This record gives sequence, C-alpha cells and structure tokens, in this order.
Amino acid sequence: MSSEPVLTLADLESWSWPGTALAVLGHPIQHSISPPMHNAALAAAAERDARFGDWRYFRFDIPPDDLPHALELLHAKRFRGVNLTVPHKVLAFDRMAAIDPAARPVGAVNTLAWEPDGWRGFNTDGYGLSTAVRESLKLELAGTAIVLVGAGGAARGAAVECLQRGCSSLWIANRSRGNLEALFGVLVPLATGFPLHGFTLPRIPAELPRDTLVINATSAGLRASDAAPLDLGRLPRAAAVFDMIYNPPETRLLRQAAFLGIPHANGLGMLVHQGARALEIWSGIPATESAPVMTVAVQAALLSA
Ligand code: NDP
Repeated sequence: MSSEPVLTLADLESWSWPGTALAVLGHPIQHSISPPMHNAALAAAAERDARFGDWRYFRFDIPPDDLPHALELLHAKRFRGVNLTVPHKVLAFDRMAAIDPAARPVGAVNTLAWEPDGWRGFNTDGYGLSTAVRESLKLELAGTAIVLVGAGGAARGAAVECLQRGCSSLWIANRSRGNLEALFGVLVPLATGFPLHGFTLPRIPAELPRDTLVINATSAGLRASDAAPLDLGRLPRAAAVFDMIYNPPETRLLRQAAFLGIPHANGLGMLVHQGARALEIWSGIPATESAPVMTVAVQAALLSA
C-alpha cells in the first residue's frame, strides 16, 4: 500500500537520518496511507521552496507499551512532528508538555509538534471533518441538526467539533448504552443549555428533526459484510450522510443513501484535511495548498492497495 518501509522502535533507537523527519505511529500501521499522502505534499512543496527538500515522513509500528519511550526518542532525535493513530491518540494525551486548547475537550491528540521542552499536542480530526463536510456536501456544521452515530474516540472528536462550531442540535446514537453514557459524561459539561440528545440503536426517537446531517463515526462498514449502523429509511428524511470510513469507499450506509437519493460522502476528505492541517502546523505550508496534492496521492495509494 505504501512504499515507505514499516520501521520499529529499534530503527528509532539507532536513528541518524540527517533530514527533517516527520512520522506516524500506530499499531498496526501497515495499512496507513499517511506516508504517501504527506510525502506527495512535501515533494510538491519542495518544488516551490527548497527548504522542504530534506523533509520526509516515515511510519513506525509502535505497540502501546512502547509509546512513552518512542515519544521520548522522537523528541531527542528532533523529529519535527508526529501523527498518532489507533491506539495512541488517547494514550499520548497525558504525555504532552502542552495541549492546544481546542484538543483539550477531545481528550485525544493526533498531531504532535516538537518544542524545546517536549511535545505540543493538537487534534486536527475535527478540522478534517468540518472541512470535508463543507467541501463534499456543501454543508456547515454551524446551524445544522446532526445525528452522530457512534460513541468511541472518533465520535467524541466529532461531537466536540459539532458543539464548538455551533450545530443547531446534536443527536448521538450508539449500539451500546454504556459507551453512550460515558460519552455523555464528557459532553454534558461542554453543552450547558444546548440541545444534546442520546439514543440507543436500533430505536429511532419520534422527535428526531428532518433535514439532519448523519455522520457515521462507528467502525461498522470497515468489512464488506458489515450491516449499516442505522437504517436511513427509518429517519425523517436526512439532508446528507457523511461516513468517516473511506476504505471500502462505499459502505452499506452510503449505498443506502445513494438509493434514497441523499447526498453523501466517505471519509477520504476528512483524512486529507486532518493531514493537511497537521502539515501546516509543522511547516507553515497552508493546508489549502497541500490538500489537493494529498487527495491525488491517497486516491492513488488506495487504488494500488
Ligand atoms: P472506536 O473503537 O473507538 O469506536 C467504535 C464505535 O463503533 C463504537 O461506537 C461502537 O459501538 C461502534 N461499532 C462498532 N461496531 C459496530 C457495529 N457492528 N454496529 C454498530 N456500531 C458499531 O473507533 P474509533 O472511534 O476510533 O473509529 C471509528 C471509525 O471512524 C473507524 O471506522 C475509523 O476508521 C473512522 N475514522 C476515520 C477518520 C478519517 O480521517 N476518515 C479519522 C478517525 C476515525 P459500541 O460502543 O456499541 O461498541
């Protein structure tokens, strides 16, 4: 999927690469298309500005127990920036020297920037979501009634983004009550006086408004055999459907949206825009400049998978 080799903690311990290094850490990591996405944007930037000629993005398979040591080594070896993916986004949160205020309520970081006294943690997933929704569905989270499906890490980030952007109401649907209640425990203090509602699937509340934006933040759909996490046919007509999953490119939920004539988009744009924003934090290259190059690169990476 990516021509970048999968590196390990041992590679990091003996690291002596002289250029400006960026990295993504995950476990597993071999499916990540972040390396070709970032390296394409860096190659394009280097054509315009020679300063980026020695920048390169690597990937490391780091098990959770090794994360603290890996973060120390990456800092000591002066990596300019780090992306974190499953399962590290929450685990790393307490190991930051500083946290971007917007990332604090999310309780998770996906982008770390090198600073002399340690890592500064950011979360660019919310920016990725809102930018992708605007670009692909011509919708703003602000002023929109949202049905968010899921109560895991991605749903928490999306819920905080919807609240911070000023959606008109937020309805969170989840399969299990326990995880829904845990998410509400985090969100309620952020949503004083705000119309925040929760329900467990497959029940659909009669009060659900029309013209909602449905966002799937569950992993239901990652396998071709997965059922859709909710039945769009049982909602008052949805205005649009955004599925955070991008591989496969069309989940059962998106196929149902197409069948019902509801505008819909997969999560590829979210991946691209969170990445473009991370690169902007590290390099100053405007996210809007990197995003088109990154889009072409991820489409090619998925086709060659
Ligand atoms: P988590 O494991 O933290 O959460 C999983 C969620 O999915 C839970 O709400 C869980 O419900 C629900 N779920 C799992 N299986 C099913 C099922 N068969 N039917 C209904 N609900 C189900 O995962 P994340 O929050 O980290 O990620 C969720 C999705 O978002 C993934 O597909 C991931 O790839 C995608 N994502 C995409 C990004 C992008 O850039 N496009 C960025 C981040 C995530 P329950 O609580 O009942 O177990």
